[in-house]
Amino acid sequence: MYNIYFEVASTGFLAVLILYLYVQYPNPSEGNILYRKWVIWILLGEIMDIITGRMIDHGDSIPPLVNILVNTFYFYIIAWSILCFARYIHFFVNGKKGGLYMLFCNAVILGYYCIMTVNIFTGWVFTFNEKGEYVHGVIYFFSYFVQIIIALSSTGLLWKHRKKLEKRQKIAIWTFMILVVGGFFLQAVLFSKTLLTSYMTSIAAMMLLFIIETPDYEKLDHTMKALEEQRELAEVANNAKSNFLANMSHEIRTPMNAILGMDEMILRKAGDAETRKYATNIYSAGKTLLSIINDILDLSKIESGKMELTPVEYDVASVLNDIVNMTMQKAKDKGLAYHFSVSPDTPSVLFGDEIRVRQIILNITNNAIKYTEEGSVSIVVMFDRRKDKLIVQVSDTGIGIRKEDMDKMFSSFQRLDETRNRNVEGTGLGLNITRQLSEMMGGGILAESEYGKGSVFTVDILQKVVDDTPIGDYNKRLEKASLQKEDFRTALVAPDAKILIVDDNEMNLDVITGLLQDTKIKTNVALSGQECIEQLRKDSFDIVFLDQMMPGLSGVQTLELIRKEGLATGTPIIVLTADAIMGARESYIKEGFSDYLSKPVSYNEMVDLLYQYLDPALIVREDQLKEKEKEKAELPLVLVISESSEKLRSFKELFAGRYKGVFVKDEASAEKFLSKHKVEFVVREK
Ligand code: ADP
Repeated sequence: MYNIYFEVASTGFLAVLILYLYVQYPNPSEGNILYRKWVIWILLGEIMDIITGRMIDHGDSIPPLVNILVNTFYFYIIAWSILCFARYIHFFVNGKKGGLYMLFCNAVILGYYCIMTVNIFTGWVFTFNEKGEYVHGVIYFFSYFVQIIIALSSTGLLWKHRKKLEKRQKIAIWTFMILVVGGFFLQAVLFSKTLLTSYMTSIAAMMLLFIIETPDYEKLDHTMKALEEQRELAEVANNAKSNFLANMSHEIRTPMNAILGMDEMILRKAGDAETRKYATNIYSAGKTLLSIINDILDLSKIESGKMELTPVEYDVASVLNDIVNMTMQKAKDKGLAYHFSVSPDTPSVLFGDEIRVRQIILNITNNAIKYTEEGSVSIVVMFDRRKDKLIVQVSDTGIGIRKEDMDKMFSSFQRLDETRNRNVEGTGLGLNITRQLSEMMGGGILAESEYGKGSVFTVDILQKVVDDTPIGDYNKRLEKASLQKEDFRTALVAPDAKILIVDDNEMNLDVITGLLQDTKIKTNVALSGQECIEQLRKDSFDIVFLDQMMPGLSGVQTLELIRKEGLATGTPIIVLTADAIMGARESYIKEGFSDYLSKPVSYNEMVDLLYQYLDPALIVREDQLKEKEKEKAELPLVLVISESSEKLRSFKELFAGRYKGVFVKDEASAEKFLSKHKVEFVVREK
């Protein structure tokens, strides 16, 4: 009578083990799949072990042929489970399936199957006699043949690859071998009626699972710590990168300020066409360079997770004005029709990051203009009140985008259709930034396009409504406003205004005073925060432009001292900064500045600020200016004959507003003048 208790117990273990594997590892690795298959075959082998054991015990009531066939089937299954074990071990040490070793194992199993099949007819290995008793054949030992050959060859394989194995793996495998071989000997030699082999195998299989197939927690712990350290290091490196980029952008923007400023002066002054052409090229290249720097900086901020949105209340119409001002002319210069329409029920004041909203709309509008050679660019703005979303749709009749390129377009540095777009400037960063920004704002961007026909980009962003009053007929207002602005801007002259400009860089001071020359505004300059304070103690100004980045006292520190001393009360102090970071305006206003002007200083931006902050009484309109000049021309003439230039100056002051002085150096010139003009009186200085 066979003792099957061990066998029944291990069948239970294995069933639980298989269940555990399927529940715990829904996505098994390749090695784990091989392990699983092996365990399933052991389970089947054990079930067969129990069945054959019972059948042998009741051999007298079962026909011998049935016993022979069931036992042969049992040996097939055992052999197959051993082949699965060989596959698992081979994969474990080699990391791959197949190979010479597996060819050998397959051959052994095939040979075994053949002999066991022949055995059905010959009884060379085992058979059942008339009484139903199990009888050993002449080559009885052969039934253990596969176990022994594969156990020996896998031991050899493990030995060969022992250096590859970690200590815990070695311990697991050797313990496994000892348990299985031990169980086999115990059953074969000592307790032939107790089915121990499979029991020991199933215990050993469990051990393999918990040591090899589950993670090495100690190692995992180490790996986690190492990863954490790497993450911290990466963060430090990333911060260094962001700081580097921020500094670099500042370092580049400062000299660019001088280049662009000086260039703007050349453009305003230069008479000959060729010089103007060169200066225009410098200007456009400089502007492109600046926008590239800004894009790189934005992207690096987004990637390092440092991009923060600065929501403010903003006037929708003013953002839209900016967009029209910055894009309409470009489209018209290219001969494109430009349509801008705003749904009249769009709320007039929203809450969101105004600067980023402007950036997003500008980007897709500029792209539409860039990638369209003929036809039109249309911008439609609307507001979805149910979802609180601002929707902007920009359509063009440009080159379009191929279907296969649609996904690529939003990746960094991806430019499409390079051959066609060779002459179009760009870095391939804009759309990536636009997509990420719009996603940060709870929205997204959608692109539709037909290659060769045109594209439609639709952006939607979540914006809170502050003032629900509908924006109304925006287009009419836009027309009116832009006419007024143009008219106004060209005429800013304020001879009685006085401005203080503070910057440690003399070149920057030259640029700004140069730009202000036509406005006739009086300018004082200071090269440091300290000098600025000294000037403010002595004099009063209508506006102070104060640079932020200065050695010694920074702009913010200077402002603090000014406030502490109670200087320049009521005078707008505008910070000058090369800070490329958008959203800076709000933070400078928080610091106590009235506004900010970013470097390189653009003439138009500066004039806009002057209109905003100068006392309107100081601004002379063009018509008033002409009047004044006319008045000046109509003043009574006084002729002064003097050789000293100092004297000339003092007379000028004396006459100011009352007489028009004409100064000559000698009598001859005086006579010449008197022969043609009528003068009130003549002053002779000896
Ligand atoms: P770039 O600086 O090159 O314009 P973007 O990130 O803004 O970079 O755009 C990525 C690419 O997507 C462009 O190089 C261009 O090939 C394509 N693209 C963007 N907008 C349009 C458009 N309106 N029409 C056709 N192609 C476009």
